[in-house]
Formats: sequence, C-alpha cells, structure tokens
Amino acid sequence: MGIKVENVSKRFGSFQAVDGVSLEVKTGSLVALLGPSGSGKSTLLRMIAGLELPDMGKIWLIGEDATYQPVQERHIGFVFQHYALFKHLTIRQNIGFALEIRKIAKNKIQQRVEELLHLVQLGGLGDRYPSQLSGGQRQRIALARALAVQPRVLLLDEPFGALDAKVRKELRNWLRQLHEEVQITTVFVTHDQEEAMEVADEIVVMNQGCVEQVGKPSEIYDNPATPFVMSFLGPVN
Ligand code: ADP
Ligand code: MG
Repeated sequence: MGIKVENVSKRFGSFQAVDGVSLEVKTGSLVALLGPSGSGKSTLLRMIAGLELPDMGKIWLIGEDATYQPVQERHIGFVFQHYALFKHLTIRQNIGFALEIRKIAKNKIQQRVEELLHLVQLGGLGDRYPSQLSGGQRQRIALARALAVQPRVLLLDEPFGALDAKVRKELRNWLRQLHEEVQITTVFVTHDQEEAMEVADEIVVMNQGCVEQVGKPSEIYDNPATPFVMSFLGPVN
C-alpha cells in the first residue's frame, strides 16, 4: 500500500476540520481528494505530509508508520497552488536546488535536471527565470522540482487552482500523461469535480471533515452514495 490513513482526526480550537478519516492509496495510483472549500482536504494532505500532526489516528507511508515521522524523513514531494519558485534563480537552478543542498555531484545534478525538464516538456526553457514563464509553465516546473529528489509520494494541493480554465484543462491531461510515465503514488486535492473525474484513478469525496464516498470516477458518477455526493457532483457538463 502506498498510503494508508487510519481514523485520523484534527481539530482547530472547537472546529473539527478532519473527523475520523480512513483511506488507502495503492502504490503508483493517483487519488483525488474532492470536496467543497472547508471540507478538510488541505488539512488531511498536510497531515500526510507531516506539516500538521493528527490529534488521533495513524498514517502509513509505503508500509512504515509515519504518524510522528518528521517531514524531511517522509520522502514526499509537494506542489501547492501558490508554490513560489525562487525568482532570482533560473529554471534549471530552481529544479536542481534541492539536490544542491544535498551535496549531490554537479554532473549528476545536471543530468537529473535535464531529465526533469524533458519529463515536464519544457526542455528549451532551462535558462529562463520564473517571471518569463506562464502560470501553467511555472506549475510544471514546480512539479519537476518536487520530483527532483525522487520522492516516494507526491502531494498536490489544488496545483492548477490559480490558472484559467483553458490552461487547467491542458494541465489536467498533461498530469494524467505524466503520471502514467512516472507512476508515483499521488494524492491530488481539488474542489473541481470535472478535474477529479478526468485525472484520478480513484476519488475520495469529502464533506465537513468526513469521507462521503470512495470509488472510481465512473462508480461515483453512476452511483452517488449519499445525497451530498449527488448534489455536489451535480450535472457534470
Ligand atoms: P479545504 O482544503 O477542504 O478547503 P481545509 O483543510 O483548508 O479545507 O480547512 C478546513 C477547515 O479548517 C477550514 O474551515 C479552516 O478554516 C480550518 N482550518 C484549517 N487550518 C486551520 C488552522 N491552522 N487554524 C485554524 N483553523 C484552520
Ligand atoms: Mg484547501
């Protein structure tokens, strides 16, 4: 199992942000956490990452109990909606940064950075600065940077949320292709039903800190398990 979350809860003051969530992500699959704003998706993702500690429950990563493991030991790559690249560094330097600070040999870094530029299909842009790229290109670079250290798990929190509809659609397809190529265990947070349907192998529908339904996109679409899921999916057009 790639990721296993067992009865995890998190409260902020008197507000129960995540309420007894269990889920499993098979090794190499792409699971979407789908739900409205405030349903606890980011909090759950941050607990998987180790950026928040659960009040209760357990988190397993690649067969290890990671519940209290420090962030840097979890071998995770992240991309957030506003995951700023370093402005004063070129794209190549941005992608290689995490490798530089790990004191990996220069020629190894160069080789890995070229592979990653190629992987995210931005091979010609390595010498540019982030400000010279479009928003969509920047998020592809953020993904390359997250993959640089060869994480075991990739966590994406609304990575395309700030982009316009047309670019989001392109990136959706791109992410699907990329995932088929690298087959890394991935959790993708979104509030966009269509995005989840198109990108994910499996969807976890969340509402008010709880899981409402888990299933393949077609299962959820054809057989919504609760009135919430039915109304949240609405007519997908
Ligand atoms: P989502 O990502 O689904 O929009 P979040 O996990 O970000 O939901 O948030 C769920 C709820 O928990 C929100 O109502 C938010 O206000 C609250 N919350 C999240 N993080 C904190 C925090 N650090 N302190 C207080 N409240 C928080
Ligand atoms: Mg969120």
